[in-house]
Amino acid sequence: MERSVADERNVVILGSGPAGLTAALYAARANLRPLVLKGVDAGGQLMLTTEVENFPGFPDAILGPDLMERMEKQAGRFEAELLHQAATRVDLSGRPFGVWAGDEEWRARTLIVATGASAKWLGVPGEDRLRGRGVSSCATCDGFFFRGEPLVVVGGGDSAVEEAIFLTRFATKVTVVHRRGELRASKIMQDRAFANEKIDFVWNTVVDEVLGDGAVQAVRVKDVTSGATTDIPSAGMFVAIGHTPNTSLFEGQLEMAEGFIVVEEPTTRTSVPGAFGAGDVVDVIYRQAITAAGMGCKAAMDAERFLEAEGH
Ligand code: NAP
Repeated sequence: MERSVADERNVVILGSGPAGLTAALYAARANLRPLVLKGVDAGGQLMLTTEVENFPGFPDAILGPDLMERMEKQAGRFEAELLHQAATRVDLSGRPFGVWAGDEEWRARTLIVATGASAKWLGVPGEDRLRGRGVSSCATCDGFFFRGEPLVVVGGGDSAVEEAIFLTRFATKVTVVHRRGELRASKIMQDRAFANEKIDFVWNTVVDEVLGDGAVQAVRVKDVTSGATTDIPSAGMFVAIGHTPNTSLFEGQLEMAEGFIVVEEPTTRTSVPGAFGAGDVVDVIYRQAITAAGMGCKAAMDAERFLEAEGH
């Protein structure tokens, strides 16, 4: 079915993390005047981190939010249009695609999906009830409120270790609860955590329940080997157990595997011609800011070539 062309864009990009903003930069520099719908959590996961030490070009590290601000500024310099809106619906059944943010509607000749991933929760009793009252997934956002208190961090990856280290700035003590007997985090992060006297590790242990009335008072944990439960006194529980890709908008429209959008590696082509995927919404392995940025670049170049082949 032929659709109206009144608000038709060459490239619509969903998401404004490193993947979305790098796609915007490249598409803008290719004169495609991309439209970026920044999404609910504009700037993506780097907005929730402190120092980024592994993004090339910043030998003295850079704060996550500062890096994102720079990326946005750089994309904006080349006529990318960035809107503080989140797509609420997409229709990929015909081209140009339909993209909606509430009542607002655009047509997209190509679409770059860079919607990233969101924090996973444990799903234990007390977690939902006490979210925002001690239960958090963002140490950099909420750590400050726990000055002089003991805290618990759940998880064994880089995020958990990074959060634990950060929280020692405020907390009297940070207990990392991990379900296995060894960390998944990188060696350098592990070494830093083991050297930090304020951090304790509780191994082979899972959270059973978060306790507290108006605020977190303790975290009930269970040793997976013995089955014994213990209450760890704590004013907060920071959950850092990974992320789920933000793909609900595309269910039934794009091919997915375990919630991630499938792309035709090494390209960023999805199962629908003209739709491309980049960043954490695609990446099951690396999930780094720099790999997301790299994929954003590839997606913009793929979109550019696709449009060129169609004579745009
Ligand atoms: P991750 O590497 O997937 O680690 C998730 C951790 O949570 C794992 O230790 C996992 O246990 C545990 N976990 C998962 N589900 C759980 C559950 N239901 N209950 C209890 N524990 C659970 O996730 P991440 O730490 O968020 O890191 C994601 C990516 O970002 C990684 O590639 C990481 O390197 C990167 N990152 C890098 C930095 C840095 O370089 N500074 C900082 C943050 C993140 P198992 O180990 O048993 O699976």
